[in-house]
Amino acid sequence: MTQTTPDQRIENPILLRARSHVRTMAAYSSARSLYKADEGYIFLDANECAYEPYIGSVGNNRYPAQQPAGVMRKICELYDVSSRNIVLTRGADEAIDILLRSFCEAGEDSVVICPPTFPMYAQAATIQGAQVIEVPLRESKNFTPDIAAIRAAIQNHTKIIFLCTPNNPTGGVVDIADIIELCDICAGHALVVVDETYIEYAHQKTVTGLIESYPNLVVLRTLSKAYAAAGLRAGVAIAQSDIIALMRKILAPYPIPQPVAAEIEKILTPKNMARLNELRQATLDRRERVIEELKTIEGVEEIFPSTANFILVRVRNAEEFCARCLQHKVIVRDQSHQLNLKNCVRISIGSEEDMRALFSALRGEQAVTVKGRSAHIVRKTLETAIDVRVNLDQATPIYISTGIGFYDHMLEQIAKHGGFSLVLSCEGDLQIDAHHTVEDCAIALGAALKQALGDKRGIERYGFTVPMDESLCTVSLDLSGRFYLAFDGEFPDQTVGGLPCDMVEHVFRSLAENLQANCHIAVKGKNSHHMIEACFKAFGRALRQAMKRDALTQEQSDLPSTKGLL
Ligand SMILES: *Cc1c(COP(=O)(O)O)cnc(C)c1O
Repeated sequence: MTQTTPDQRIENPILLRARSHVRTMAAYSSARSLYKADEGYIFLDANECAYEPYIGSVGNNRYPAQQPAGVMRKICELYDVSSRNIVLTRGADEAIDILLRSFCEAGEDSVVICPPTFPMYAQAATIQGAQVIEVPLRESKNFTPDIAAIRAAIQNHTKIIFLCTPNNPTGGVVDIADIIELCDICAGHALVVVDETYIEYAHQKTVTGLIESYPNLVVLRTLSKAYAAAGLRAGVAIAQSDIIALMRKILAPYPIPQPVAAEIEKILTPKNMARLNELRQATLDRRERVIEELKTIEGVEEIFPSTANFILVRVRNAEEFCARCLQHKVIVRDQSHQLNLKNCVRISIGSEEDMRALFSALRGEQAVTVKGRSAHIVRKTLETAIDVRVNLDQATPIYISTGIGFYDHMLEQIAKHGGFSLVLSCEGDLQIDAHHTVEDCAIALGAALKQALGDKRGIERYGFTVPMDESLCTVSLDLSGRFYLAFDGEFPDQTVGGLPCDMVEHVFRSLAENLQANCHIAVKGKNSHHMIEACFKAFGRALRQAMKRDALTQEQSDLPSTKGLL
């Protein structure tokens, strides 16, 4: 391809395969596409209301840009592409639909899909009136596509080939060499659409870097799965700029609602991406444990290798398997309707608790209390945003991220010594100081523990003493439903690891207050680090004893109070 100035530049030849009236029509020019909102204009051009719809609303009265600039910048950085090579859509699903509508003439054109695969390709084709040509994945070769068979199946009117890697629902990846070969085979004739929805989970590299070399390659990515944002509807297509420009003509003028754009920007902050990365790794680790455990389940005949956040299993009887799960309110997806997948079931990798529920369903165990004593609290103020989950009936996972390393370590001590699972993340105004973050985390944790304890049947009152070298701390705790804190201790230092020492008493005050507990803490020592650590450990130990519940069901246990209510 010759590279020249934009106006004399030779069109990507694949565009000649697009629907001709879409190619030649002018793009709709919406009010907001002409003048950018951030340049200080007074907008009297779109019949919007001059006022916000409610007090506290920001920007909801105005039409958003078709491709909001802030999101665009972050998405380009995320996928390492330039903005002319990417179109933001309402999920990868919408990108699939737009590709069909851009390239396939109803009643004339066809697409190639490789079943068993994601059903939306055929769905979108059918809606558009395009014929669907099926070239099955090779069952004997780990469900990989048969490039020679695809080549043989392509007709004059074939416009798009869909490949999915990792493939949903079989879980395997497509070789990059096969993708390249297919692009060459289809050059100037058909688009090769590579759906990389699950690529973040796989060890395979993305092919987004190949778009400059392959004018007919389109890559689909999404925030729905690995970025945990299915509810936002945020996906993209990545391709050469002519294809992208064509797709934007079909895309609605305002597809990304303003609050959605704001949410996407929050997801793509470096700190949150690091958090998501850890959760993703934890999901993959869990997948391996789930596979091992599935091998012990009666009726499981084959587990297909997976590179994604789900597993496909072949069972003796899929209908019975799914019904067994459903009885315990666990929903898995029967794939028996798909080509070559009789009695196959797709299982997503959920949380540790979710998978526990799955296995107790599969083993036909009595559902104890489905979720155990657990709570999930989201607490948001102007200073902090906190997400905390506790489960008192399991010891893992423990994951804490407050932005203050030492405080993370201390809260971890409470969970570890308390013997409960705690996942707490906080995004706080640490640029001001640690105060809000430290206090608000304690408030949220206390509230979560209180909620998880429920009616406190089967719990006890307890105390604990922990020595740490020269330091000694005693914590006595009564989950009495009434707040009282007595804190006796003076730390020799001002701060330890970013945690102001005078906040330690505040932490226990907030915890006890929100837990509605009576708590006495006495700590002595010479080393502030040891003293603080001893407080958190002893508190965890006392909490463990106080929250302990014997194996009896809640109904059979007694409340450890003569009043019958704590
Ligand atoms: C879930 C899924 C999608 C849909 O992604 P959205 O971005 O949520 O529309 C696309 N492709 C495959 C293979 C999927 O499994």
